[in-house]
Amino acid sequence: MDKQQLISEIQELKKQRDAVILAHNYVDGDLQDLADYTGDSLELAFRARDAHKGVIVCCGVSFMGETAKILSPESRVLLPVPSAGCPMADMVTAEEVRAMRKAHPGAVFICYVNSSAEVKSEVDICCTSANAAKIVASVEPGREIVFLPDGNLGRNVEHDLKRPIHSFSGYCPVHNQTTVAMIERARALHPGAKLFVHPECPREVVAAADEALSTGGMLRYVAASPEKQFIVGTEKGILHRLVKENPGKEFFPMDDCLVCADMKKLTLESVRDALRDLSGEVLLSKEIMDKARKPIAEMLERSKA
Ligand code: SF4
Repeated sequence: MDKQQLISEIQELKKQRDAVILAHNYVDGDLQDLADYTGDSLELAFRARDAHKGVIVCCGVSFMGETAKILSPESRVLLPVPSAGCPMADMVTAEEVRAMRKAHPGAVFICYVNSSAEVKSEVDICCTSANAAKIVASVEPGREIVFLPDGNLGRNVEHDLKRPIHSFSGYCPVHNQTTVAMIERARALHPGAKLFVHPECPREVVAAADEALSTGGMLRYVAASPEKQFIVGTEKGILHRLVKENPGKEFFPMDDCLVCADMKKLTLESVRDALRDLSGEVLLSKEIMDKARKPIAEMLERSKA
């Protein structure tokens, strides 16, 4: 079946199922074009919360589907590829969080949304890369903070806010492989281009970049910038929107290795199959959803302007 036929079939199924399609900025460009909303984790969380109570197809990795389900429990949330996970999210378990609680009694536990529902159910506040600094800054001065699972994001926020944070040892395999040498090579190839990276990159990489921004932040930054050339230090899927929404501006991946294999598992075929068969449904116990909703709701509340 050719691509156009497949897209028509999805549109038809979408109507029949009364479905909304959400897509993360890292998935394939065809899926971004097809989606009702494309965005970063925070934007997708808001969309899921405000979605109508029908079918939500979540084109992203498993924790995003879980977040959508927690925020819209009456909806049927489908993950077209349930095996698409986030290696960083798998680096911490609920049991480890409980053990850390014992080691840091009295600390506020802040958890990046890139984590399982079970882990979220054990923490106080969630955050995304778009609001991590704001969430940490909202904790009363002097209170101990434990940040998980992303050690790089925790250290970058610690540096920016000059506030001590106990950061867990997890990392994103895509962003953790970035290096200062990579930045130097990209700058030599595209002298004068603005270079931004994701705050999941190691501290020295963030320090060497012009800016560290969430994917939503990158899109806003480019739209407002008078600059014409940009080197993009995050997963390459974001280039699709950057190019599409910014005619006349040029974008270069910081390195071709910046590809998330899990995000790339999502295909048009998988979305068609999920809508046709209502497969890949996210199922969570009420107890876990109720517990995990609290730190997410706390994040959404503290993210308000
Ligand atoms: S890009 Fe990194 S953090 Fe995002 S889903 Fe892939 S492995 Fe996880």
